[in-house]
Amino acid sequence: MADILVVEDEADIANLVRLHLEMLGHRVLCCDTLAYGRRALESREWALLVLDLSLPDGDGLGFCRALRDADAALPILMLTARSSEHDRVRGLETGADDYLAKPFGVLELQARVRALLRRASLLEPSAPVGPLEVPPLRLDPARRAATRDGEALELTATEFDLLAFLARQPGVVFSRQQLLSEVWGYHHEGYEHTVNSHINRLRAKIERDPSHPRLIRTVWGVGYTLDVSEAA
Ligand code: CA
Repeated sequence: MADILVVEDEADIANLVRLHLEMLGHRVLCCDTLAYGRRALESREWALLVLDLSLPDGDGLGFCRALRDADAALPILMLTARSSEHDRVRGLETGADDYLAKPFGVLELQARVRALLRRASLLEPSAPVGPLEVPPLRLDPARRAATRDGEALELTATEFDLLAFLARQPGVVFSRQQLLSEVWGYHHEGYEHTVNSHINRLRAKIERDPSHPRLIRTVWGVGYTLDVSEAA
């Protein structure tokens, strides 16, 4: 059971989200403004934030960015009524872990929430895994901690899982669909931007020069690989 905060001003959608997350056994608080959401975030710990993109007192994008700067760990699922690809990508680039475009199916909502909570959970009963040494990177899955040249990297849970997945098989090229399925846990077509945006954010954090990435390489037409052949 997790505590989930929903910031959404459309009552029908907020109620739908609440109902279907409560069905999974979670506790849900709905807020209909950013101001109310901000107070709720300050008042206690949350396992997940479901955030609408447009709210009566402001834009979910700016809210998401500020929140991500203050707290790298809170998983964020963005709801967007905007159907343009540009807006979806912007949502991801402000730090959301995943997004759902309205109208969405409740089963898809439940699946996304389940996957985000599973990824974020430090208590996940998985096989014990030792640290991954991929110089200059070092990842400790048990602590979800990562360093580059001994310096701590501030990664979100999703960023960590994506990097750890690549680091387990350095040099292997994975398609965006494979990464979606392995890291996000779903197979939907059309969500490849989710992968691209997270790769961009990871590069900004781990590469010496993110505009000329040496660690996470793009293999055109195929996907991405963690290249450690000439650690830069
Ligand atoms: Ca709205």
